[in-house]
Amino acid sequence: MNYTVLDRGDELSRSLAAKFHELAAKRGMVRNDDSPSVIISIGGDGTLLQAFHTYAHRADLVSFVGVHTGHLGFYADWKADELEELVQVMSEKEPRIVSYPLAQIEVETSEGTSSYIALNEFTLKGVDGTLVAQININDESFEMFRGDGIVISTPSGSTAYNKSLGGAIVHPSIESLQIAEIASINNRVYRTLGSSVLLPKHHHCDILSSKKQRIMLAIDHITILRDDIRSIRCAVANRKVSFARYRPFTFWNRVREAFIGYDVQ
Ligand code: NAP
Ligand code: MN
Repeated sequence: MNYTVLDRGDELSRSLAAKFHELAAKRGMVRNDDSPSVIISIGGDGTLLQAFHTYAHRADLVSFVGVHTGHLGFYADWKADELEELVQVMSEKEPRIVSYPLAQIEVETSEGTSSYIALNEFTLKGVDGTLVAQININDESFEMFRGDGIVISTPSGSTAYNKSLGGAIVHPSIESLQIAEIASINNRVYRTLGSSVLLPKHHHCDILSSKKQRIMLAIDHITILRDDIRSIRCAVANRKVSFARYRPFTFWNRVREAFIGYDVQ
C-alpha cells in the first residue's frame, strides 16, 4: 500500500506523523508522497481539507484517513493514542471505502470560466458591504439576495459553517447541495426565502452578481477576492471523495459526539 501523511504542523501532529512512518515501515507500507493511494491527515478537520485540496487532482484514486489531535473531528475519526492500532489494521485489513458527495462551481469572470471543487462548502461574501446577487434555480429566477453572504455546502460540510447559519445537517448519502443565507436583509422592499434550501443532484443554481462589487469567494479554507465575478454556477460534483474506514463510526454518532456529548441518557 502506497501512503502519505499530512500533518497540521504543530508539535504533537508532527511527532505523530514521524511515529506513523516508523510503524508503517515496520509493517511494509510504502511511503509515496507523489502518488499515494491512502492519505493520512493528522490534525483536525481543517488539516483534512488541506490534504483534500493537495490531492484533489487524484480524487478518484485516493482515499483519506483522519487522525485528530484536537477535539473529535468530522473527517478525522482516529485518536492520537490509537496510532499503533491504526497502522496495524491498515496493514492487515481491507477497509470499507465510503464516498461522500462534493460540490462544484463554475465561476465566470471577465477573464473566463474557472471550475472549483469543495469538500465542505463555497462561501460568497460582499467585501465592501452588502452582497447583491440574483439567484436562479434551474435557469429560473428565484430571488434577489441582499445580505452578508451565501454558503453552498456539501452534505459533509453541513456540520461546519452551514450549521452555524441554522442550516440542516444532511447525511452524506443524500447527494445534494445546501444553500444557506448569511444575514439576509428582509423587509417590505427586499425579500429572500430565509430558510436554507436543499438541491438534489440533477439541479443547479446560478448566483449572478447584480452590481459592480468585490466578492470574497472561499473554497473550503481557501479564499479568493475578485471584483469581476459575473456569475457562479453551483451543482453537486460528478466526482466524490473517498474515506477508508477500518472500523464503523457512523455519521450520526459523529454528530452526536461532536454536538451533544458522550453521555446521552
Ligand atoms: P477553522 O477556523 O479551524 O474551522 C472552524 C471549525 O470548523 C473548526 O473547529 C473545524 O474543525 C471545524 N470544521 C471544519 N470542517 C468541519 C466539518 N465538515 N464539520 C464540522 N466541523 C468542521 O478553519 P479550518 O480548519 O481551515 O476549516 C475551514 C472551515 O471552517 C470552513 O470550511 C468552514 O466550514 C468553517 N468555518 C466556519 C465558520 C462558522 O461556523 N462561523 C466560519 C468560517 C469558516 P478543526 O478544528 O478540527 O479544524
Ligand atoms: Mn481548523
